[in-house]
Parts: sequence; C-alpha cells; structure tokens
Amino acid sequence: MDFNTSKSESYAARVESYAGFGNGLAATQDLKEGDVIIRVNNPFLILVEKAALELVCSQCFYEKHGLKRCSGCKVVWYCSASCQSTAWKASGHKLECPIYQRLPDVLPTEVRGLVNLLLCKEIGTKPDPKWASLEGHVASLRKQKEWNNIVLQANAAIKYSGSVDTYIETVVELLCRMATNAFRVTLPDSTETGLCFEPLVSLANHSCDPNAIVMFDGRKMFLRALKFIDEGDQIFISYVDTTSPRDVRQAEIQASYFFTCKCERCTNNSGFAPVVNSKPSPRLDLLLDRGNSIAQYPDPKETKVRNALSHYRSKDDPSPTLVVLLYILLTSPYVQPHHPVRVSTLYQIYRQICILATHPEGDEKLLAGAEHVPKKLLMDIDYISASQCILILLIELAPKSHGANSQFLRNLSRDLSAIVELQEPRGEVGEKLQEWAMDASAEGKMYSNHIFAQFRELAAYAFKLIEDVSGV
Ligand SMILES: [Zn+2]
Ligand SMILES: [Zn+2]
Ligand SMILES: [Zn+2]
Repeated sequence: MDFNTSKSESYAARVESYAGFGNGLAATQDLKEGDVIIRVNNPFLILVEKAALELVCSQCFYEKHGLKRCSGCKVVWYCSASCQSTAWKASGHKLECPIYQRLPDVLPTEVRGLVNLLLCKEIGTKPDPKWASLEGHVASLRKQKEWNNIVLQANAAIKYSGSVDTYIETVVELLCRMATNAFRVTLPDSTETGLCFEPLVSLANHSCDPNAIVMFDGRKMFLRALKFIDEGDQIFISYVDTTSPRDVRQAEIQASYFFTCKCERCTNNSGFAPVVNSKPSPRLDLLLDRGNSIAQYPDPKETKVRNALSHYRSKDDPSPTLVVLLYILLTSPYVQPHHPVRVSTLYQIYRQICILATHPEGDEKLLAGAEHVPKKLLMDIDYISASQCILILLIELAPKSHGANSQFLRNLSRDLSAIVELQEPRGEVGEKLQEWAMDASAEGKMYSNHIFAQFRELAAYAFKLIEDVSGV
C-alpha cells in the first residue's frame, strides 16, 4: 500500500497485520475524538449515483441550487464553470462525455465508475496493488446470485469504454473489491449521493463498537476518530448499522462480508462501551433529558421507524416527520454527544423546523398528517427560536463530527446569523439564546429548556404515527 503523503492528503495511520483480521490500520499517534486519521481529497473512485445526479454537483459533490447540465452528454450536472473544468480535465469527463452522448440512458452507477477507471486509470491490464490486496471474496461472491450482475457490469464497462476483452478478469476482480469495500457518499442530512471506493480507507476492519467513522465533506473523504485512540491501537469502522440487535448485525456481516464478528459487543451481547474522557454537552443533555423521558418510550422495531420516516417525508408533511425524527433522536443509543448519526438527525430536525417556521399560524400544512398530535402543542411552538436552539447545538457538535473547516459548519453558521437577524424585532429571546450559545448555564437556557420540553412531549406521540404507517 502506497502511504506516500502528498501535501493535500494526511495520514495518522499505518498498515499492520492482525491475527484473525489480516491487514488493518493502526494509529501512528494518540488521537482525540473528532481528529482526522486519514484525509483523501481525491478518492480512487468517487461518482454521483444516478438518483442524485440533479441534486449535487458531479465534481464538488455539494448540494447547490441552479446546477447546470453538461451540454455534451446531458448526464452530469455542475455548480460552476470551475467545477465543470476540473471534471473535464482532472476527473476524466473529457474521455467519458463522448461515450455518454451516444447512449440513450444513463448507465448504472457501478458501470459508470468502471468506465471512468478504465479510461483514466488503465485498470484493465493487471490488478493494481492499490486495491488488489483488499479482500474481494471472489470465491464466495461467485456462489451468490449477484455474481451474474457483477459479470454483466464488468462486460458492459469493457464494451462502453472500448477496452479489450482480455481485461474482463481484472475488471471482475476489481468489481468484487468494490462490492465489499465501497462507501456511500452522503449529505449531512444522510441523503445518499454517491459511491466511493478508496482502497486505503477500506483497510480499516470492522467492529460493532467502532473507534472511527468515514465522513464526507463534498468529495473529500475523512476517516475520523469517534473515540480517543492510543498510538498503536487498531482503527475500526463499522460496516453495518451499530444500533441493530446482535443477530441482525451478525446476519448482515455474514451475508455481505462473509465473516463472523467477534467484537466485544458481539461476544458479550452488550451495548456500546462507555466513552472515557469524552466531554459532555450540557446543551444536548438539556434536550435529551437523559434518564427521565427516554426510558418511558416504547421501543418500536427499527425498520418500522425508518418506514414511518420515509412515509411522512415522501408526503412532505413537516409535523409528523419532525415528531418521528425527535423520537429517533431521543431514543438513539450513541454514547458520544457528537456522534455523526446523531448530528445528522439533529440537522434533519432543523430542516423540518425551518419548513414549519415559514408557515403562517393556523396553516393547514402545519397540521397535515399529524392527526394524533394535539393541535395546540404544534401551534404553541416558537419555530424560529426552536431553529436557533437546534443550530446552536449543531454548531457545538459538528466540529467533531464533520470537521471545524467543513462546508457543513460554514452553512450552519451562515443560517444562524440569518436567524439572529430575524429574531431582532421579536423581543429578547434571540439575544438570550445567543448568550446560552456562549455559556450553557446562561439565563437564555430557560428558553431552550421550554422548547426542548415541547419537543419531548411531541416525541411521545411518535409511537402512534409509526404504528399508523406499519399498519398500512
Ligand atoms: Zn461544484
Ligand atoms: Zn458530458
Ligand atoms: Zn460485532
């Protein structure tokens, strides 16, 4: 593995061989929560998936309004002339564009990725040591029904890129690595936007209580510490949702990664280990009100909750969506206050509150789909102040989840300035909340405390909303 550090990429990890794991990554220095372990500015392969082509820029991967389509192929969209020009030259669109132009439909994401690699990185001739050392599970995949699909995709990529047929073996080998090692690129609200294959980061092994996580800031990829990691310790990420029960996690890992997880949580069927040295967040604790309200909530099955969330979201009903999101936030078991999944949930909550804040009082849209929730409770919330509270929380937590220099944090700060301005003619509340932002025990706490209590009351109605959907 090539560990040459270039100016634009930084590593605090080295490859190490581990009994029972094979290759893995070890920390080369002590790391704090939120520290960057590996930063890759230009992953080996990163591309926008078909469903997100009109949502994010195909070069910088940021969600922006007014994207412009490539006039040649009409497949990819860019946010600026500068992104278009970088994509044309550096990311190889110059070579792909004429191929896309001739095709009636947009190729599947994996095939587009392979075409790009075949054209730009000449991957076909022989396995590149960059990815060949990764586990490909070729023999196991060969026995599965996905195998036909892998071969089809490899053949399609060879045909469309105009490569020679003899490349097929290498392309299939690469596709197998991608199938087990690729990452999903997501926006801060968890919307999936792309596919990323970066062999270096893929060397990290799995644990159901990981000490690191992969995050994206646009097209930049970060392996970031979730916990304090000592120099020399192995770095683990999770390949599955760590909040699922052990049986579910084990089944998913076996089906997709062909091994049995022997991590501490799987061995003892236990929860997440408590975090040491983690700085608590009094502001988040005020919202979560730990040990008080959460324990009283029933525990609907995880998939039920997700189905309900996508149901209300697809109907564009902000109130029930908000209630279900609040429920998810209050019941999530993550130990770190800044856990990226929690930060993402908070951000999704913020977005629903923004929609509600713009509705005039008594507007029907405000109440749509939330039959089980008392009207008065929904009407009583000061959504402008609520958005300020959640933004203050996000700005406190996001430096450790998304990075102090991330576009996400810059956007949050910009939004907060706008809300503070909006609050000015509305009395002292905006100012008091800003004092609370500076000092968690300031007087403004009583405003946030009031809103957070309303949120917890709302979350208690989620159960009926979730049941409604699962009954359909
Ligand atoms: Zn762009
Ligand atoms: Zn084009
Ligand atoms: Zn495990």
